Amino acid sequence: ASLFGAIDMAPRDPILGITEAFNADTNPAKINLGVGVYYDDNGKVPLLQCVQQAEAKLMEQLSPRTYLPIEGLAAYDKAVQELVFGADSAVIQEKRAVTVQAIGGTGALKIGADFLKRFSPDSQVFISDPSWENHRALFESAGFIVNHYTYYDPATHGVDFEGMLSSLRKMDAGSVVVLHACCHNPTGADLTQEQWGQVIEAVQAGGLIPFLDMAYQGFGAGIAEDGAVVRRFVDAGGPLLVSNSFSKSFSLYGERVGALSVVASSTEEAARLLSQLKRVVRTNYSNPPMHGGKVVATVLATPELRQLWEDELAGMRVRIKEMREALVAKLAEKAPGRDFAFVREQVGMFSYSGLTKEQVGKLRDESIYAVDTGRICVAALNSKNIDLVVDAIAKVL
Ligand code: PMP
Repeated sequence: ASLFGAIDMAPRDPILGITEAFNADTNPAKINLGVGVYYDDNGKVPLLQCVQQAEAKLMEQLSPRTYLPIEGLAAYDKAVQELVFGADSAVIQEKRAVTVQAIGGTGALKIGADFLKRFSPDSQVFISDPSWENHRALFESAGFIVNHYTYYDPATHGVDFEGMLSSLRKMDAGSVVVLHACCHNPTGADLTQEQWGQVIEAVQAGGLIPFLDMAYQGFGAGIAEDGAVVRRFVDAGGPLLVSNSFSKSFSLYGERVGALSVVASSTEEAARLLSQLKRVVRTNYSNPPMHGGKVVATVLATPELRQLWEDELAGMRVRIKEMREALVAKLAEKAPGRDFAFVREQVGMFSYSGLTKEQVGKLRDESIYAVDTGRICVAALNSKNIDLVVDAIAKVL
């Protein structure tokens, strides 16, 4: 028998499986709403102007490809801290926040998970029900037991907030609670500012370790608005981990640009934390890649490019909102028996549409691809395909 003869086939990634089926479909009018990617009104993944201009700038000053420091480009880590915590944040002034450049938001979560497993090995991890499908696998692969906390209520298409609070209150002290800072994936249902206040109180009262995952900063209400929850956690005190990603906000998916930030209780503790985060990075991939970090750092630190980025990001945010409005209005006309107004209240790239698995299956017969859970990517809708989608939904309801 061969050494690997008894290895089972790993389960297929549910979302990538949809893309495979989509790619194999020969219908020219096919539409993929299963993805987690922003498309523009022409159905293309944008190459942002701010990114192109930063790359042109970098081309003028070509530099040798040395290794970056283990924690990444200093200018990048600084820019991330200012974006995530706010430029005037006390934790930056007091040097209590440490940030390491990471291979996308996924890499940031993994560094955080490995770090926590080393220093809080008996913690259990709690993710929302439902959550981004990789959260569970990622924390399990770091050695944690992963549980759910109550989050989504299909009856209201919103957050079951009482359920969430009662889940939080039942957790053992030292549990890690993974929270979506904004634009909840997959449901699109976010907490209100008032509810965040109660969550922060419950996290503090229970001695929980908050891990904020911010993969969509700027896609909800705005860059500062979406980051506000990070600042509120910082103000409340206590340990905090924040993973962030520029995959979506810079449309830099394939460059793998993200970061992990950890807030310590003192400057001296921060130095020790950084040394241990570096050890995690060093033993995994030694140091991060250079290009994406340089692009983001250049945009964030150059006032004109930064303004351009903020405008382009606002453009993406506004277009998604327009698609939500259009979807609600058109469905009201074509499927008057069913109320889709909740889609307008949802935030970010996704909507839990309420479509059943069977209905999603029937949509596929119309060459429209969505996730079995009913999650659709609103950012994949555009002025040319929305009528096809609405007609198909009306037909399968
Ligand atoms: N967290 C959430 C909630 C996400 O939706 C995603 C990506 N879809 C990530 C993390 C990972 O981001 P990245 O693609 O930058 O690794």
